[in-house]
Amino acid sequence: MLPLFSEYPDLPRLQAACLACTRCDLSTTRRNVVFGAGDPAARLMLIGQGASPTDDRTGLPYSGPAGEYLDKALHAAGLSRETVWITNVTKCLASKEGKDGRAELRPPRKSELSACRPWLEDELLLIRPDVIVAIGGPAAQALIDPNFNLTEQRGRWYDGPGGIPTLATYQPTYLVRLSQWDRPKAVAGWRELVADLRMAAERVASDQ
Ligand code: SF4
Repeated sequence: MLPLFSEYPDLPRLQAACLACTRCDLSTTRRNVVFGAGDPAARLMLIGQGASPTDDRTGLPYSGPAGEYLDKALHAAGLSRETVWITNVTKCLASKEGKDGRAELRPPRKSELSACRPWLEDELLLIRPDVIVAIGGPAAQALIDPNFNLTEQRGRWYDGPGGIPTLATYQPTYLVRLSQWDRPKAVAGWRELVADLRMAAERVASDQ
């Protein structure tokens, strides 16, 4: 369920408030809050799990190699970053110290997910997309069903937040990594990612 309306009058004021957020501990380790970006009038919203280390540096969603991969997939599906809105379930980088002392990505904790949820709900209320694409299994679990199984359920329509038609597709980061050790599987994943994005674009077009 979504609240009936946003407490913010517009997206710039929501963004300004979000950029100053200290609702959870990730505020103490992030460099930048990674607010959504794209066309505020977009009918299609892409929602990933959380900010990457590159996003944390740039303050922009999907700004690293996974973002370049996503841009190519959007282009292949007849879309572009300028015609959609891209955001994340959690707006700050969730990381832990790795064995070599360097920061490693970790899944956001339940408390972090619930602390950040109102920002996403406000984005949804102010943009009011017709269609959502959940990028990756964790985003689908946060948006569609906690038990969502990406392997079995990707590429199909479900009710997402507020009943908005939502489908889930592969996380570009996963496909970029996969291409390094299983090229045929990565190529198949690329085709399915593009097909999912195209299906979302067609749903937007058919709703207009
Ligand atoms: S992850 Fe979300 S709730 Fe936590 S500090 Fe960042 S913006 Fe605020």
